[in-house]
Amino acid sequence: MALIVQKYGGTSVADATRVRDVAERVLYTQQKGNQMVIVVSAPAGKTDELLALARGVAKHPNPREVDMLLATGEQISIALLAMAIADLGGKAISLTAAQVGIKTDGTHQKAKITEISLKRIKEELEKGQVVIVAGFQGIDEKHDYTTLGRGGSDTSAVALAAALNADMCEIYTDVDGVYTADPRLVPNAKKHDEISYDEMLEMASLGAKVLHLRAVELAKKYNVPLHVRSSFNENPGTVVKGGENMEQGRIVVGVAHNSKISKLTIARIADKPGVAAMIFSKLAAADINVDMIVQSAGKDGLADISFTVSKDDADRAEEVARSMVEVLSAESVERDDNQAKVSIVGTGMLTNPGVAAAMFETLAQNNINIEMISTSDISISTVIPGELVEKAVQALHSAFELDK
Ligand code: ADP
Ligand code: ASP
Ligand code: MG
Repeated sequence: MALIVQKYGGTSVADATRVRDVAERVLYTQQKGNQMVIVVSAPAGKTDELLALARGVAKHPNPREVDMLLATGEQISIALLAMAIADLGGKAISLTAAQVGIKTDGTHQKAKITEISLKRIKEELEKGQVVIVAGFQGIDEKHDYTTLGRGGSDTSAVALAAALNADMCEIYTDVDGVYTADPRLVPNAKKHDEISYDEMLEMASLGAKVLHLRAVELAKKYNVPLHVRSSFNENPGTVVKGGENMEQGRIVVGVAHNSKISKLTIARIADKPGVAAMIFSKLAAADINVDMIVQSAGKDGLADISFTVSKDDADRAEEVARSMVEVLSAESVERDDNQAKVSIVGTGMLTNPGVAAAMFETLAQNNINIEMISTSDISISTVIPGELVEKAVQALHSAFELDK
């Protein structure tokens, strides 16, 4: 008897038909003699709807109350799935994170799981129940609801699989695996049979939202192999596991993009020691993650510092930047929300020179101006004008022969 954790995303539980479909899938696997722990997301669109409700009543809704509200989305899905399973003659129980005991730190909307208590889950499994757990949510020390960041149900599933030492962790979504690029942008993207944790980490951190970044981090840390599959068909998906560059000979394994970024520029500040330290410590103190940073060459002792942040943090980042204009004697703060980050990923870059040149060449041939560049061992990222993201992703995808 194996213990299987399955996670179903929003589109997989979007309506009654989809929920009943999932119920059938779950029972089918349970009836083969497996113990089943199921993690579900809120129905597709529900989390956005709840956030809109919050913004309808308050300009800056209280983060604790936002999580109280957001946690209800997943609660809809767990209850409905339990009902559907019972209706098909199965035994199932739904549990919130509070009922399970999924503990997190207290950072609302970005909480990290610190501990999972397994007692209740194990008791229910012993009784032959399918255990259905609300994804995305946790409780902090005070027993207040927290959420793990958008897309965080993947992380709930992997954390449970690691804690339970599950035999398998399957992530069911609306695509049948991890592709060489987002299939919504690149129709001829190819599905990977396998991808390494490191490459998947890089893809996820650079915008491939098919897996939540923290989920991949946890999977790597606890060596949980993930199987990413579609809940709409029976196709084999993508296995994410340890090891490197399993698809031999491939220098680049994927193109990732992220259109949810904003660029801020603090213009014409004194080019002297301590300025960057001041700007970025203020941003860090406001809990804003800064991604790329570029400082332009100083002229007349003055320089521009540009940086990118997630669009969700852009209002706050702009406020912080403006609050420093005077002490920095800066000329202005400029903000550009129409930016996108396009990246190529592959462990093969470690040993193959010329990849960056080929990337920049491709963008140049397509008349796409690069505004910022950053690199890691296994990726190269560029910031480009937002409206060119699709063109850039497609051009890079064919330039690196990912469609072959
Ligand atoms: P779920 O609600 O099931 O968690 P998500 O919408 O979070 O689903 O993630 C699935 C989506 O991720 C796909 O519909 C696809 O558009 C997007 N995606 C982005 N990059 C990739 C990629 N490289 N491979 C597969 N899907 C990708
Ligand atoms: N429902 C949450 C979201 O929309 C979590 C998830 O889908 O994984 O972000
Ligand atoms: Mg998701």
